[in-house]
Amino acid sequence: MLNIAVVGTQANSWINELRVARPQDRFEADGTWDDPEIVTAAVISVPSADALHKYERLAFVQSLWMGVDGILGDQRFASHLSLARMVDPGMPISMGETVAAHVLWAHRYGDVYQRNQTAHLWRDEAQPLAARRTVTVLGLGELGSHCARVLRMLGFRVAGWSRSGSSIDDIAVTRDLSEALAHGEIVVNLLPLTPQTREILNADAFSKMPRGAVVINVGRGAHIVDQDLLDALDAGQIRHAVLDVFNGEPLAPDHPYWSHSHVTVTPHVAADSMPETCIPVIAENLRRFDEGEPPLHLVDRGRGY
Ligand code: NAP
Repeated sequence: MLNIAVVGTQANSWINELRVARPQDRFEADGTWDDPEIVTAAVISVPSADALHKYERLAFVQSLWMGVDGILGDQRFASHLSLARMVDPGMPISMGETVAAHVLWAHRYGDVYQRNQTAHLWRDEAQPLAARRTVTVLGLGELGSHCARVLRMLGFRVAGWSRSGSSIDDIAVTRDLSEALAHGEIVVNLLPLTPQTREILNADAFSKMPRGAVVINVGRGAHIVDQDLLDALDAGQIRHAVLDVFNGEPLAPDHPYWSHSHVTVTPHVAADSMPETCIPVIAENLRRFDEGEPPLHLVDRGRGY
C-alpha cells in the first residue's frame, strides 16, 4: 500500500478516480495530511517544489503534465526524486486535431481573410495545393511525430527537426535547424522547454523562415522571444502567429498579443491531460513503484525532457 499526495489545483477531481483505480492505496490532497512523513509518492499537476518539501520520505513523483520544465527549472526540486512525466495516449490525438486545425486554417489563408473582412476587402489569395506547402515541425516526440503524420495524411510536405534526427515514415527529418526553418512556410513548435530550446524562436530563426511564414506555438511560451516575434510580424516577415502558450500565463490583459491583428491567442488549451486516458498510466506507474520496478516515462534530467 502506498501513501500518495495529490498536488495541484484540481487535486480533488483526480483523487476520486485514482482511488477507484488503486483502491489499495491512500490518496489525499496536499495540505490535508496529518502525517506527511508517511507519504512516499506524489501525483502533481501545477509544478510546485514548495508543496513537496514537507514529504520527507517522498521518492517518486508522477507529473500530470507532459512538459516537466516547470519542475526541472525549480532548483528546490530534489535531484534524488524519480520523476515521471505524463505520456497520455489521448494527448497526441487532441494535439493532432489542434495542429491540423491551425495548419489548415493558415494554409487556406484564414488569417488573411479574417483581416480582409475587418477591412471590408474582397480579395482572394492564390491557393497552392497542400502538396506544394511545407510544414516544419520542431520536435518529433510523442506529440510532434503524431502531428507530423496527421499533416502528411492531409497531403502536406512535412519537414521535421529533432535532436537525434531519427527518421519517421517518409517525413524528412534533419538535425540542422536552419535547413528545417528555411523550408517552413508554416512552422509548428512542439519542442520541450530545456536550456537548449529556450528562446529558440528568435529574430535569427524568424529571418531564416520564408517571408510570410506562419508560426504555430503549442510548445512553451519561453521558446519565443516575444519582442522578436512582434518585430517580425510588424515587418511582414511572419504573416501570422497562433500562440497557445506564453511567457507568463494567464497572458497579461495589456499584452500586445491580445490586440495584434496578426496574432491568434488561445489559453493553453492545445491538448489537455484527461483523466480517462491518464489514470491507467498513473496506476501502472504506481504499481511499478510499489513493486520496485522502474516507472515508465522517467525524465532524463541530463537531457532536460
Ligand atoms: P517528447 O516526447 O519529449 O519529444 C520531444 C522532442 O523534441 C523529441 O523529438 C526531441 O528530440 C526534440 N528535442 C528536444 N530537445 C531538442 C533540441 N535541443 N534540439 C532538437 N530537438 C530537440 O515531448 P512531447 O511529449 O512530444 O511534448 C513536447 C512538448 O509539448 C512538451 O514538453 C510541452 O512543453 C508541450 N505541450 C504543450 C501542450 C499544450 O497544451 N500546449 C500540451 C502538452 C505538451 P529526440 O527525438 O531526438 O529526443
